[in-house]
Amino acid sequence: MEKILVSACLMGRKVRYDGRAKTSGDALLARWRQEGRLVPFCPEVSGGLPVPRPAAEIEGGAGGAAVLDGDARVIATDGTDVTAEFLAGARAALAAARSAGARIAILKEGSPSCGSLAVYDGTFRGRLLPGRGVTTALLERHGVAVFGEDRIAEAGARLRELEEPPPGGTA
Ligand code: SF4
Repeated sequence: MEKILVSACLMGRKVRYDGRAKTSGDALLARWRQEGRLVPFCPEVSGGLPVPRPAAEIEGGAGGAAVLDGDARVIATDGTDVTAEFLAGARAALAAARSAGARIAILKEGSPSCGSLAVYDGTFRGRLLPGRGVTTALLERHGVAVFGEDRIAEAGARLRELEEPPPGGTA
């Protein structure tokens, strides 16, 4: 059975920077949870950051790939450089995905770790730009398909592709 890595905050765990969860009520996610497919994971907590913690953004509105390549840093609202913790969390997320054999991840959109379509622009003014978080960028580099919580149906289509034998294949 295919496993799916999921942002822990979407599963109701209070691990966000503000000490809250961002629980998803998605029916498909609930079914996968019952089936035992889901591997909840929070890269920022696993990378050593506390709950609660100051919000952080990738400087200059750069994407997570730039952080992986050493071309951008992740800075918290109090000015702390948290790049090392974000990188450690991304590596831990990849290790968790590999250990579970997960080829799909459903991660919280907009997060500097977990975003897959958008991240904040680094000014702490609430402005989103197209881009990926640090964990998403690392997972995608290693072949894990990442979907935000608004794209769970797309994740389901990918899951069917992975689990259903190709037409004409042997049973
Ligand atoms: Fe949720 Fe990801 Fe932020 Fe952890 S790092 S709180 S899993 S969005």
